[in-house]
Amino acid sequence: MQLEVLAVAAHPDDAEITCGGTLIRLVDKGRKVGVLDLTAGEMGTLGSAEERLREADDAANIMGLTIRENLHLKDSVLEDAVENKRMIAAVIRKYKPQTVILPLKDKQRHPDHRMASILGYGACFLAGLAKADIEGDPHRPHSIIYASSFVDMTPSFYVDISAQFDRKKQAVAAYRSQFDGSPRSKEIFKPGNSILELLEIYHRKYGVDVGCRYAETFWIAEPLLIDDPSALAVRSI
Ligand SMILES: [Zn+2]
Repeated sequence: MQLEVLAVAAHPDDAEITCGGTLIRLVDKGRKVGVLDLTAGEMGTLGSAEERLREADDAANIMGLTIRENLHLKDSVLEDAVENKRMIAAVIRKYKPQTVILPLKDKQRHPDHRMASILGYGACFLAGLAKADIEGDPHRPHSIIYASSFVDMTPSFYVDISAQFDRKKQAVAAYRSQFDGSPRSKEIFKPGNSILELLEIYHRKYGVDVGCRYAETFWIAEPLLIDDPSALAVRSI
């Protein structure tokens, strides 16, 4: 089976929060989309690993993912180790995605998010090396795009998720152990704010930036090549 898009994330719920609307939009367009979680999030203050894995399955169903896998690496101590890259590279070879979505490397509070970005990039490279001792045929994704949440960055592009925003919120809310509305659950990101409030504020703001209701933001390392400059969606005047 081949995927068009694979998102690699440190913890269950990261992909939903950072790029869930875009993943759903790609599914809506008929793309085969998967998520690879590197850990089960077992070190999180709220919820057990078993609960979070069950919740991840629920969220995967809501988003319409083709596959979701978990490497069960150790939460909160992700290391820049060749073996970790080999494990991720084996999944890349297995599903042969053209596009891989990684966490943004910079401005991450949780060290696993930064490390997941480093490991994911290394794995994309490694997966394409014919001589690498990794299961499967060599495959290197064509594009890597980076997603993040609630951080100040200059996006390379935005994706309109207005039609997907309700399902994104449902997918995030599927992590009941994390986001049950308790005072503690409001301390995970910005103190005193629930995740659903933050999604509303940030994605609405990104939507305002580009003239739609709700949007997600992405960064890429390369200049963006446009097919038809006369068909730009943005309004200048
Ligand atoms: Zn996380």
